[in-house]
Amino acid sequence: MRRLRRVKILATLGPASQDPETLMALFEAGADVFRINMSHASHDAMRERIRMIRSIEEKTGRPVGILCDLQGPKLRVGIFKDDSAMVAKGAQFVLDSDPTPGDATRVHLPHPEILEALRPGHTVLIDDGKVSLHIVEADGKKAVAVVDVAGKISNKKGVSLPDTEIPVSAMTEKDRSDLEAALNEGVDWIAVSFVQRPEDVAEVKKIARGRALVLAKIEKPQAIARLNEIIEISDALMVARGDLGVEMPLEKVPGLQKRICRNARRLGKPVVVATQMLESMITSPVPTRAEVSDVATAVFEGADAVMLSAESASGQYPIEAVRTMNRIAEEVECDDIYRSIITTQRTTPEQTGADAIAVATRDVAETLDLKAIVAWTSSGSTAFRIARERPESPILALTPNRDAARRLCLVWGVHSITTKDAHDIDDMALRACKFAHREDFAKDGERVIVVAGVPFGTPGATNMVRIAFIDSRDWAKK
Ligand code: PEP
Repeated sequence: MRRLRRVKILATLGPASQDPETLMALFEAGADVFRINMSHASHDAMRERIRMIRSIEEKTGRPVGILCDLQGPKLRVGIFKDDSAMVAKGAQFVLDSDPTPGDATRVHLPHPEILEALRPGHTVLIDDGKVSLHIVEADGKKAVAVVDVAGKISNKKGVSLPDTEIPVSAMTEKDRSDLEAALNEGVDWIAVSFVQRPEDVAEVKKIARGRALVLAKIEKPQAIARLNEIIEISDALMVARGDLGVEMPLEKVPGLQKRICRNARRLGKPVVVATQMLESMITSPVPTRAEVSDVATAVFEGADAVMLSAESASGQYPIEAVRTMNRIAEEVECDDIYRSIITTQRTTPEQTGADAIAVATRDVAETLDLKAIVAWTSSGSTAFRIARERPESPILALTPNRDAARRLCLVWGVHSITTKDAHDIDDMALRACKFAHREDFAKDGERVIVVAGVPFGTPGATNMVRIAFIDSRDWAKK
């Protein structure tokens, strides 16, 4: 079973996608990685979903990636006497440390460290920016604000602070407990929400100790200010356009999407474009033209993956949404303009053996029109570096490491297979051809390029390429 596109599809799970049949249908429609959003899943629900996803692997023999998305320090106001209050434009509204229920003049902000960090001039956005205030006085315990955009504030609505550096780590106690539970279940990727600094990612990596790779969600202006440092330390990135579009002016989001994608691609880090991609499909079986164009833009940009949130988690048409994304991606990738955009955006390789081999492999594959690049890889890193080259030929990653095969489900153009390591050079070429043939990438008489590291099984030793002819009689004899 092979996908006919290079970009990957990430589908968020939720009430609309919690039974084994729907999960299998989502996988068959094109989902490569499933996202479990810990803002909405209990540990038991997470375990149940992981069990169902792993059973898809057993049934289909294909690896499936699992991304566990930590909620992060989502800030919220307290409660109101009447469950909500209307605040009027120009009126004063106080955020304070008093837990008694609020009204149209004040409310509790149950985050003392935020009250300490607020300064006059800072903007406070409530309920995804539906209400906007600016601070005029702050003494560390109480912040007096003036209302710029009026509206209703209900109990526990979210608070965004685009100008305030939040002096806490991106991980809360809940995140720590969710992270431990997710690592114990062997998830492949951990997404860190509301990253502000490289240290926020480092903290999660330190706990994960390689048990899962770590993806930084870029959704705060503070993260944009330190984008390249965050990309350097992260294993992957997400353009989390939902919160990014609250914390920054909406019209900046498309440019930031391009910047994050390009910088991530330059450093060879997978990048996911997320949120509202097919939003209208939550309630409609067909998307809007603008949504189709939005998905296409991300594919043209060379993103590693496009993501569905509520469309697959709680919408009425989860399977149709994945199918639609799949169709858009297949069509874009067949367009001549797609190839020319991808090629123009190639960046210089780093001065490492792995990158030199990756570039050479792409060149040979393109010069000779080879049907696939077959990379033997222990940790998956050779496949990551070849994917960075965005070659025309599909990449088959052969790895003895099941975790690496699953992690590679998020990476552009990679079809990963778990198999035992090659024991010599002939075995390496023979099994590379056999897998390329079996998985429908190449037919008898066609050629592939095989990439490997000798001695076998040594991570970081990628040092050879070989052009190999497919001849199915070679393995029929054995
Ligand atoms: C986003 O804000 O775009 C996002 C992906 O994060 P979440 O769905 O967790 O709010």
